[in-house]
Amino acid sequence: MQTTQTAEKLALDGGPKTIVEPLPAGHATRSLIDEREVEAVAAVIRSGKLFRFSDHENSECTRFEREACEYLGVRYSLFVNSGTNALISALVALGVGPGDEVLVPAYTYIATAAAVVAVGAVPQIVEIDESLGMDPADAEAKITPYTKVMIPVHMQGVPCRLNDLRRLCDERGLLMLEDCCQSIGARYFDRVTGSIGDAGAWSLNYYKVITCGEGGLAFTNDYRRYERMCFNGEPGLPMWMKDNYGDNFGWQQEPFSNLGLRCNELSAAMIRVQLAKMDTALGRTRAIKRAVRETLSAEPRLYRLQHQDDPHGDCGLSLALICRDQDTAARFGQALSAEGMGTGAAHREGFPDRHIYRYWDSILNQRAYHPNASPWTHPAYQGQVSYSPDMCPRTLDILNRTLRLGLNVNMTPEHGRLIGEAINKVDRLLAV
Ligand SMILES: *Cc1c(COP(=O)(O)O)cnc(C)c1O
Repeated sequence: MQTTQTAEKLALDGGPKTIVEPLPAGHATRSLIDEREVEAVAAVIRSGKLFRFSDHENSECTRFEREACEYLGVRYSLFVNSGTNALISALVALGVGPGDEVLVPAYTYIATAAAVVAVGAVPQIVEIDESLGMDPADAEAKITPYTKVMIPVHMQGVPCRLNDLRRLCDERGLLMLEDCCQSIGARYFDRVTGSIGDAGAWSLNYYKVITCGEGGLAFTNDYRRYERMCFNGEPGLPMWMKDNYGDNFGWQQEPFSNLGLRCNELSAAMIRVQLAKMDTALGRTRAIKRAVRETLSAEPRLYRLQHQDDPHGDCGLSLALICRDQDTAARFGQALSAEGMGTGAAHREGFPDRHIYRYWDSILNQRAYHPNASPWTHPAYQGQVSYSPDMCPRTLDILNRTLRLGLNVNMTPEHGRLIGEAINKVDRLLAV
């Protein structure tokens, strides 16, 4: 690996490149998949026990749920087959339904809003700020008499302004559901993201911090809410989970039936191995990000780092530079790419990125699976929302001038230092 001292010229202008060898490609815990995952899945196949309720107490699913609870510091969790379904489970657990509004940030995967629609409620789309998460002031402005739940989202492993948002929820009598689909393992001061809300959700799909291909986890500290998650995901539950006398399991509430979100033992076996490896993976990515931060100049000219209440708790998988305008971001990104660190603006005009509200066509157009099941025209709904592609101009403005950089477990702190040097160089030399 080669490093360059202060170069006079940007690589873009024919100067030497800061990062000479290509940065290693990779991802989070997925990049650490090895024979341990293969063995864990093979062992389940050999055992012939492919159904969690064959031996519920000892099933892989139950073990994973216990281990995840321990990691999170919460009491109850339910393994389901996607992050979207984990969000739906949590919304049902919190009692959300037709007539309710739910606050969602304008920058999140469309599934956050889709989950709200799926339970018959109306999403209220809230601006983000330079934390790249929900803006507490706009959240407050969008509370109505019908608002029941707020869903803060921690994008790319970086916690949003949880203290302010939690305080707002408590003051205004809202419940909080933390969408931790992208922030498994992220900490917020002394807690793990997901344990601050009244319920939380993980996604375990291929792109997330840990993965078994597809999967999700819903969790809460409240037993009755957990029970509702269970009913919501398995109409046959009172049949599968009965005690030795054939009575029901001791459910405290009358069961209801809704969806089939049951998960399988093969996925559970794999995700248990991934969870066990996660701290190793995040230890590496955090060390890389620390190296970047320690290298970055204390007073950059052209950008600010994404705001973090707790700068040390995030997963270390991403870095966001927020430039002062879109043109600077575009030129900064180009110059940085030429130095060897690929990057681009978080919002690129014309690319239908489903992580930005502007491209949630089905939500903006208020389409439901059946005209009589529309949350927006449901007789129980007394409120009124209107959506448009430019309803959150601050979100679009911030994303237009935000450069996103990805870090991964195959990089080293030395790479982190080089990335920091490349950013410093561009910041020093780019003409303004
Ligand atoms: C991935 C993701 C989801 C949905 O998870 P799936 O497992 O794909 O259903 C929800 N919210 C956010 C923020 C996500 O990144």
